[in-house]
Amino acid sequence: MQAEDKTRMTYSAIFEKCYAFKDADNVKAAGVYPYFHPLGSAPGDSVVVDGHKCIMVGSNNYLGLVNHPKVKEAAEKAVRDYGSGCTGSRFLNGTLDLHIELEERLAKFMKKDAAQVFSTGFQTNLGTISTLVGKNDAVIIDRKVHACIVDGCRLSYGKIYKFAHNDMDDFARVIANVREIVRGGILVVADGVFSMEGDIIKLPRLVEIAKEYDAGILIDDAHGVGVMGETGAGTAEHFGLGDEVDLTMGTFSKSFASLGGFVAGDAKVIDYIKHTARSLIFSASIPPSNAAAVLAALDIIESEPERRENLWKNGRRMKKEFDALGFNTGHSETPIVPIVVGNDMDAFVFWKELFDNGVFTNPVVSPAVPPGQAMIRTSYTATHTDDQLDQVVEVIAKVGRAHGLIK
Ligand code: PMP
Repeated sequence: MQAEDKTRMTYSAIFEKCYAFKDADNVKAAGVYPYFHPLGSAPGDSVVVDGHKCIMVGSNNYLGLVNHPKVKEAAEKAVRDYGSGCTGSRFLNGTLDLHIELEERLAKFMKKDAAQVFSTGFQTNLGTISTLVGKNDAVIIDRKVHACIVDGCRLSYGKIYKFAHNDMDDFARVIANVREIVRGGILVVADGVFSMEGDIIKLPRLVEIAKEYDAGILIDDAHGVGVMGETGAGTAEHFGLGDEVDLTMGTFSKSFASLGGFVAGDAKVIDYIKHTARSLIFSASIPPSNAAAVLAALDIIESEPERRENLWKNGRRMKKEFDALGFNTGHSETPIVPIVVGNDMDAFVFWKELFDNGVFTNPVVSPAVPPGQAMIRTSYTATHTDDQLDQVVEVIAKVGRAHGLIK
């Protein structure tokens, strides 16, 4: 029977699920498919998508550096000086002097002994968690951590436990149980700033409880580095807990306007990760242009703290406006401001109407959020102008009213 299907080129049972998969087709048929739209320009405060100019409130370009002349110049120069790629892993033939300089700069920026650069933030968590958490160890995570933390835990040989999102009473209950069962070490992992809802981990209490049970702490600060803290060193700095948090990881794909990731901590811990993390050892290092772009971004982050101030001013303004209009902005506390709209299809339709009105956002649907809680994630940039934000408010209010989300 299968052989009669002329559209099908492969008949192994392993591919059945692919031919049965209709989710994306259904959304496309409804004319509201929001994914994989090609951008025709840098994702700055505005962007060209499918040839259509939009105000960009759907990027992670928090400090507005993706299109910064100095960052672009540094990337161009690195291509001229070092070529286009490294053709090997950091471990063997892929370490450049630029990578070493970057690690030294990052360690200083994060106020830690040492830092290790990985090829992506995703790989940083995979490698760091899986190499630290061994057979007799346990890892405890917040229920809403990023997918790469979950995958890092799955790759480890240790036992995995979860606590209710940002609920420190539940964390205390879980860690007390774990301590009874597990003989080895305990690693606690959470996002500093949660990527979808923009809420902040209750770090002071988490640190207190973790220390009571002699657990190590890894904070994923992909959305916190550059954004949080007096100097941009992230969530731990924001709470004055830089010395208490053992490891912070970050990514270059957001505030640093590039691609790659890093983890910062004590020299001996970083040295162990560096020599044992499989996603580092067996994967090619970031190209020279990416490393040079991050170095240039660091210069700007260190010398222009006003960027961070602008980012927060913009984020706070938008949350205030959306709340005043009557939208449900969830638990946002940062320049990531979601708007809860309802079921998944509502979110796709809402997204499309915003897009048609010149505002690019991100729909977030289940399983990333519970069914019925689909949201439009908006996020802000240091370089958004008041005029741009006025327009975003106007469009979102108009579409929100048309959908009965606000009066
Ligand atoms: N952690 C969090 C919280 C993230 O949001 C992301 C990226 N969305 C990552 C890790 C992975 O970073 P990268 O894009 O560098 O792989």
